[in-house]
Amino acid sequence: MTLKQIIEDAEQRGIALGHFNISEFVALKAILEGASQLNVPIIIGVSEGEREFIGIKETVALVRAFREEYSVPIFLNADHTHSLEAVEEVAKAGFDAVLFDASKEPLEKNIKLTKEAVLRAKILNPNILVEGEIGYIGASSKILQELPKDISLEEKDLPTAEEVAEFVQKTKVDLLAPAVGNIHGILANIPNPRLNIKKVREMKQAAKIPLVLHGGSGIADDDFRVAIKAGISTIHINTEIRVAWRKGVEMGLKRNRDEVAPYKILSSALEGIKEIVLNRLRIFNGL
Ligand SMILES: [Zn+2]
Repeated sequence: MTLKQIIEDAEQRGIALGHFNISEFVALKAILEGASQLNVPIIIGVSEGEREFIGIKETVALVRAFREEYSVPIFLNADHTHSLEAVEEVAKAGFDAVLFDASKEPLEKNIKLTKEAVLRAKILNPNILVEGEIGYIGASSKILQELPKDISLEEKDLPTAEEVAEFVQKTKVDLLAPAVGNIHGILANIPNPRLNIKKVREMKQAAKIPLVLHGGSGIADDDFRVAIKAGISTIHINTEIRVAWRKGVEMGLKRNRDEVAPYKILSSALEGIKEIVLNRLRIFNGL
């Protein structure tokens, strides 16, 4: 099945696909072990910085190698891609999907750039899925000391149904990531904001295409369940993976101060990430 078919199938079944970011091998292995254990499809995401670190062709090759080893469908998404050149690069390299993110631009410019991104990606690979983003939710998958100042969070600042419909019609994107009260990153001292479920429902009706929820880290379990019912079919998790990675590495180093075998030190990171992935995938897939 193609990614498009898998997302449509998830929509019909009232579940969501998990999208997890990686920037090295341990997280990739942990995520795929989790997906494989639950026998559910999975999307691996790499942002511009993450894929620069691994290498674009190397990321594609790694995912391809895992596809041969695991029986679950594994897809690769070029997360938060900011230039048209970078869109062309990943379309050529064999990614299954790309998120072109001009959400910081005013709506008109976002529409113009995203439309161009769709055209350029589909010329190179007619099957690639292109996602657009509307409403700005911050840029960093990290621990935040306070809410970023310039994000769309209050209902009056979120995209309207009309804006969503216009964006989708004019750009011809396959998937849409709207701001619905979600943020990138996890707040250090207070819970992340609650999702605006009414807006999810409204935007789903206006968009008429699958919706992607970014900034899934730090969102309450029940918010996920309600958001999926309201029209979300893919959910991104990154910060929680990064936090588990760091905790695991620290634990691995502390456990035996003389240990120098990387695979022994890193095994705690692998287990920690896998636990997060299993927990999230069970919620997303209604298991
Ligand atoms: Zn994101």
